[in-house]
Amino acid sequence: MARKIDQHLRALWAFAFLILLAGTSFAQNSGRNLVRVQLGNYQGEMKKIQARSIDVAGVDLSAKHVDLIVNPEELKWLKEAGFRPLIVGADRVSSAPDSRYQNPEKIESALKQFAAQYPNLAQVKSIGKSLLGRDIWSIRLSQNVKKDDPSKPHVFFNSMHHAREVMTSEIGLDIVETLLDQYGKDPSITHWLDSYVIDVVPMFNVDGNNLVWSQDSMWRKNARGGYGVDINRNYPYAWNSCRGSSSSRYAQDYHGESAGSEPETQVMMNFVRSIHPVMSISYHSYSEIVIYPYGCEGQRTETGAVVEKIGRELASKLKKDDGKGTYTAGTAPDLLYSVDGGDIDWLYAVGQVIPFVIEVNSTSQGFQPSYSRWRDLTVRNQREGWKYILGRMDGASIYGQIKNEMGGVISQAKIRIRENGGNFSQDLVVNPNGFFNVILNPGSYKVGVEAAGYSSEHQEIKVGDSRTPFHPVLKKI
Ligand SMILES: [Zn+2]
Repeated sequence: MARKIDQHLRALWAFAFLILLAGTSFAQNSGRNLVRVQLGNYQGEMKKIQARSIDVAGVDLSAKHVDLIVNPEELKWLKEAGFRPLIVGADRVSSAPDSRYQNPEKIESALKQFAAQYPNLAQVKSIGKSLLGRDIWSIRLSQNVKKDDPSKPHVFFNSMHHAREVMTSEIGLDIVETLLDQYGKDPSITHWLDSYVIDVVPMFNVDGNNLVWSQDSMWRKNARGGYGVDINRNYPYAWNSCRGSSSSRYAQDYHGESAGSEPETQVMMNFVRSIHPVMSISYHSYSEIVIYPYGCEGQRTETGAVVEKIGRELASKLKKDDGKGTYTAGTAPDLLYSVDGGDIDWLYAVGQVIPFVIEVNSTSQGFQPSYSRWRDLTVRNQREGWKYILGRMDGASIYGQIKNEMGGVISQAKIRIRENGGNFSQDLVVNPNGFFNVILNPGSYKVGVEAAGYSSEHQEIKVGDSRTPFHPVLKKI
C-alpha cells in the first residue's frame, strides 16, 4: 500500500516537473534576449549574421563586438554557428523606455510651443501623414521664417526613422531649443539663422514610436499590417539591390512590397524635393559612428572627395559619451554591413544632398539609455556635430542664381563642375527658382551652365575657404 502511494507521489512529482519545464520553455520561446557576440573576422562574421536576418542593435568598433536581439531559435543558431553569445539581459528588450522620452503627442505640443514662443524664428508644419494617419511634424527655423526666401539654402535634420531609437528625438528637439534660445546671443547661431533655413523633423516614425510605448519597446519599423516595414530600407534608390535588406515581413530590415511603398517614405521624399537641402543628418542609434553613402559594398560616391572628408570631420567633432575618443566615419559596409533602400543613398543620388547618418550612443547605453544619466550628455555631445555641419555651410562652396539677359529666372538648368587637376566631378540640376549651392573643397574648377534654349556658359572658378558667389547670365539662342 505504502509502496503504491509512493509510486503515485513520484508520478505526481514527475508531472509537476514536466509542467515546470514546459512553462520555462514557453517563456523562452516567447522571449527575446539582447546578446553580445565577440567577432574575430569582423566583416565576414557580420555578413553571416546579416544573411540570417538577425536584428543587429549596435556595434562597438574598437571592442569588435556586436549586440543582437534574438529569439530562442536565433540564439540556438548563433551557438551552432560557432558564435559565443553572451546574454546581456532580457530586461533591456522588455522594459518600456523612461517616460521622460518623447512620444508623438509630446513632440507635437513641444514644437507648437516653440513656434508660439518664437513666431519670427520658428514655424511648425505637418509634412504629411503616417500609414495610420498621424501627422509627421517638422519645424522650420530661420530669421523672418514666415517670409519664403528661396535664396536661403536649406539644411535638414531628421530623427527616428526607427521607432525604438528614442534618444534621437531628444537630439532633434535639442537642435531646435539650442538654436532658438541662442539666437541673438551666440554669433554663429545668429548668423546661421539669418543666412540659412534649418528644417527639423524630430520624430519621423510616429506610428512606430506609438507602438514602442503601447506594445513593444523594441519596435523598429512602421505599423504596416502588424509586421511593419523598415522605412529605412524602403527608399526607391537601389532598393533591394545588394542583400542590404530582407524580403521577409518578419525581419527587422524588411524592405516592403515595392520600392517607396510606404506613406512615410513618400512623405519624406516629397518634403526633401520641396526644400532641396544642401546637407542633412539622419539620427539613429546605436554604435557611435557616422555613415555616408553608398550603402552597397564596393560603391563610392562620385563626389567622395567632399562627402567623405566632411563625414570624417563630422566624426572627429563627436566625442563618445564615455569621453574616450571620437566617432568613426565610413560607409555602411565599411562599418557594419550593406544597406539598400536607405535614406542617405536616395538623398545623395536623387535629392542632390550631402547626407549623413549618425548612430548615437554606445553598446553600454543601448536603445533606451537611462534618461537621467545620459540624455543631457548625449545631446550636448551631438551639438558639436550639427554645429559643424552648419559651419561647413559657410565654408568652401559656390552659390548663386542662374538668370537670362533680361534678368529673368531660368528654372530648368544644369551645372557641371570639374576640378582642375583633381578627380572631383559633379553634375546637378539647379533648384526650380534658379538657385544653387554646391559644397566643394578649396581648389579651382571648371563650371559649365546649361539650359535648353540658351547658349551654355563656362567659367573657371577659384574656390577658397568660404562661400564663392557665381551668378551666370545665359543668352537666348
Ligand atoms: Zn536606426
